[in-house]
Amino acid sequence: MAQFWKPGTEKPRLVDDEEGGVLFFSGGFSSSSSSSGYGYASIEKQRQRLPVYKYRTAILYLVETHATTIIVGETGSGKTTQIPQFLKEAGWASGGRLIACTQPRRLAVQAVAARVAEEMGVKLGEEVGYTIRFEDVTKPDVTVLKFLTDGVLLREMMDDPLLTKYSVIMVDEAHERSISTDILLGLLKKVQKRRPELRLIISSATIEAKAMSDFFGKRKKRRELENEENGIQLEPAILSVEGRGFNVQINYVEEPVQDYVQAAVSTVLLIHEREPPGDILVFLTGQDDIDAAVQLIADEVQTSKKHSPGLVVLPLYSGLPRAEQELVFSPTPRGKRKVIISTNIAETSLTLEGIVYVVDSGFSKQKFYNPITDVENLVVAPISKASAKQRAGRAGRVRPGKCYRLYAEEYFLNHMSNEAIPEIQRSNLVSCIIHLKALGIDNILGFDWPASPSPEAMIRALEVLYSLGVLDDDAKLTSPTGFQVAEIPLDPMISKMIIASNQFGCSEEIITVAAVLSIQSIWISGRGIQKESDEAKLRFGDHVTFLNVYKGFLQSGKSSQWCHKNYVNYHAMRKVLEVREQLKRIAQRIGIVLKSCESDMQVVRKAVTAGFFANTCRLEEYSHNGMYKTIRGSQEVYIHPSSVLFRVNPKWIIYNSLVSTDRQYMRNVISIDPSWLLEAAPHFYLLQQSNPLH
Ligand code: ADP
Ligand code: MG
Repeated sequence: MAQFWKPGTEKPRLVDDEEGGVLFFSGGFSSSSSSSGYGYASIEKQRQRLPVYKYRTAILYLVETHATTIIVGETGSGKTTQIPQFLKEAGWASGGRLIACTQPRRLAVQAVAARVAEEMGVKLGEEVGYTIRFEDVTKPDVTVLKFLTDGVLLREMMDDPLLTKYSVIMVDEAHERSISTDILLGLLKKVQKRRPELRLIISSATIEAKAMSDFFGKRKKRRELENEENGIQLEPAILSVEGRGFNVQINYVEEPVQDYVQAAVSTVLLIHEREPPGDILVFLTGQDDIDAAVQLIADEVQTSKKHSPGLVVLPLYSGLPRAEQELVFSPTPRGKRKVIISTNIAETSLTLEGIVYVVDSGFSKQKFYNPITDVENLVVAPISKASAKQRAGRAGRVRPGKCYRLYAEEYFLNHMSNEAIPEIQRSNLVSCIIHLKALGIDNILGFDWPASPSPEAMIRALEVLYSLGVLDDDAKLTSPTGFQVAEIPLDPMISKMIIASNQFGCSEEIITVAAVLSIQSIWISGRGIQKESDEAKLRFGDHVTFLNVYKGFLQSGKSSQWCHKNYVNYHAMRKVLEVREQLKRIAQRIGIVLKSCESDMQVVRKAVTAGFFANTCRLEEYSHNGMYKTIRGSQEVYIHPSSVLFRVNPKWIIYNSLVSTDRQYMRNVISIDPSWLLEAAPHFYLLQQSNPLH
């Protein structure tokens, strides 16, 4: 009767049954928003036990007297959940002002806001709210503590460049150096000049504080620093919150492992068999390998009965529905051992209670951009020493723990880099530049960055934006296209595709495509080879398949059974509906007429081309294994096995994104006619030295 939940199927519910060995039961959502079940008094006690509690007065004093306060403290010390509450208690949210706390990750925003609302005994969305892209759970004039992604705060600056409604902005997880965090820090430094009463708190789990302090302390004019206004010091203050981590014993593998998913699974089972009680946290890289590991443990438990008693296996990655997120925070039922298989979100963004064992694959998914080939890639890549230490630290929160590194000690010591490279130095800068331009920052090269992006990447981005018709000859946003693209909170290529759909008369379809592309995946992973009903239609590509799935979903009356039968993730489809509604509203606001092209897929493909022409690839003529080359940069790429065009291999295709494993794979591809390229982006293709289209 024990049963595992397969990701993407019915929502699971953790049930503490008395028989043992029960892992999941399908069931309804738990309606309570409470994640811990503790009463109010007990929560107050828990709060007081956190390391930051002792620093409450010091923190409030520093914030009062300094424009910028940098707070360093170990993960779990209470930075994120407590400091905003301290600020509110001290009156920073009085008189209609708000306190903002940013996070690089959406899942963290939701989880932390829910926790703080619970601690304060209020309903989420009232005094305590959150905003992530396409989801605003705040109430005007009621919400005073607002958690949001740094990307959303950047967007808010487009309407209110000085962020006037906030009294304090806490930029959390600054050590992650996400691209949005870095842009935000650069902009906030500018805002401070115009709004001396604004307070910034920069919090971080690692001691990179000095660099941050130098950044905020370094002003163009010395006078600025001396000019203390109302006794506010402009030189940043640094406060280190002493944690109380326990010792963590580190174990390495002797030989490099071949398959880290399999190795992680074996390690979990070994720990479960041999080690005393305590929960296990496994770091893998993303939904795919996490789902695979959950499945492997399930299979293992089914075949060998010995492991089954009391193993509760939970995945954790962004894109997980709320009800499933809550399971990872719920207390482990008595006599059970919880295994959380997570992306690096559990490295510092979320604190999980009760972890005693950590299994570290040594990898995470990272973005890499090569400005020479103009290829941005999501790659499973080795983590840094700093990350490895953070991961290990997760085992020592409640008592001495153990960390199992699935790599050799020699590798850790001699081959792992000390710190990760800031994301801005390994990203395509197209979105970033649009943001800055929309905020009226014209001298992008002279912008005061916490870490400068490479000039090559900058030039590449300007070139693409020029070809997209977003920037004019003077590198200013064009009107209306440039401003419209900036208005849509999506990748500029997707935004351009939406705008182009207006001319092609297929905005209804393209908005659906855009909504699907903004969701990680609508498929249940492990989807087998499907027998498609109308193959000819599907062969145009994944975008067309998305439209068929969407249509089928609506026709089924939005049925979860229909999804199940068609290997479609029901939650993802609900999300698509939501995002689609929001995009429709945005599109209408910027003057796009909603119109359907019915079944004319040629115009849909043309609209995709108008946005994504830079991602064109051609099948290598004598290739027997489906090798493509990118038109710009001649990179070797292949169609991802999950694509409907896998093995179909049309001559000309456009991809949406690249993922890299053993090869560079194109995800979400569509076939095109090369003559459309010149139509879509004459400059882009004619400027190439030898025209690659011929
Ligand atoms: P930091 O930001 O310093 O890493 P947090 O403020 O996120 O720390 O967490 C402080 C403590 O609050 C954690 O150690 C944990 O005990 C508790 N906590 C945080 N989030 C949750 C949650 N969603 N459910 C239960 N407890 C939580
Ligand atoms: Mg935190």
